[in-house]
Amino acid sequence: MKWFISLIFSSLLLTCVIGNPLGQYFLKNKRVKRTVFRSEVASNGVTIKSNADAFKFLVEFGYNRCQTPSGTDSKIYGSPACQSSFESMLEHFQTSFHLPVTRELDGATLKLMNTPRCDLPDSSSSLINKTNTLWPTNRTLTWKLDYDHSFYDLTKTSRQIEQSFNDWARYTKLTFRQVTEQEDVDFNLAFESGQHSDAYPFDGRDGTLAHAFYPWQHGRGQIHFDSTEKWTDKIHRYNGKGHNLRIVASHEIGHVLGLEHNTNNKKSIMYPFYNLILPEDILLKEDQERIQALYGEKPATVPTFPPTTSVRATNVTKQLTETGEGQ
Ligand SMILES: [Zn+2]
Ligand SMILES: [Zn+2]
Repeated sequence: MKWFISLIFSSLLLTCVIGNPLGQYFLKNKRVKRTVFRSEVASNGVTIKSNADAFKFLVEFGYNRCQTPSGTDSKIYGSPACQSSFESMLEHFQTSFHLPVTRELDGATLKLMNTPRCDLPDSSSSLINKTNTLWPTNRTLTWKLDYDHSFYDLTKTSRQIEQSFNDWARYTKLTFRQVTEQEDVDFNLAFESGQHSDAYPFDGRDGTLAHAFYPWQHGRGQIHFDSTEKWTDKIHRYNGKGHNLRIVASHEIGHVLGLEHNTNNKKSIMYPFYNLILPEDILLKEDQERIQALYGEKPATVPTFPPTTSVRATNVTKQLTETGEGQ
């Protein structure tokens, strides 16, 4: 009897997974502006407790892969023709994050799975030709914050997002400018909750924090933050006091520019799980190199002062020294 119930449960779970809306088109033209208030901050994100929860998590974040005949890794959300076993998905996850490979839902695996994270899968969409979708570097790219939430400080929020764009502009040929008027822009940023303007509903407090669309996706340039999260501009380890918006925004901007997750280094801004990074440490050398491979290095700045300035300064110092004023 027990095995029969378990079989029915597994079939139901598989049906849910196959019917997952991931991969549906982006409902760009059906975007509805709405105001979200703090009273909506009610539900908590999904907590991974059981194998069934973990199975769903692994499928959602791109660990349901198998080997194609050519030997390449293929992402196959819910494809019945190529379903990885739960154990092999666990192994893939544990290997990706350098956890002990037990092929079981052990404590270390559970802990990481329950860390707040980005909503995008960890798999690489290697079959897509990405290079011709990148953003131009010969003009200033524009961004706009869709601000209709009375509980955020607009100035503070805009400043943090500006810093996040600068995190990438600092090392590349890319330049960005905020636009506040109603005009078409390259990047739209918005705080959303639950079901919103695309096929990827947010899950409430913790769980997934934000998502964005790659340049080669239909919704390119869109960045959404889960408005039910507690966002902060403070730098402290996550202990219920909130997630640092600049860190999460820098990560999502990395996605809209074309970078995928980096599971190898938890100090990388493209690490999928939330991790506190000090502002001065944002963009490791490897992050800088990855973005420069797409958009080129920032040109060296040309000195703006004529060299005579330093001669004059030397003369002034000499005079002060002679008169004793500079002592
Ligand atoms: Zn991400
Ligand atoms: Zn969204």
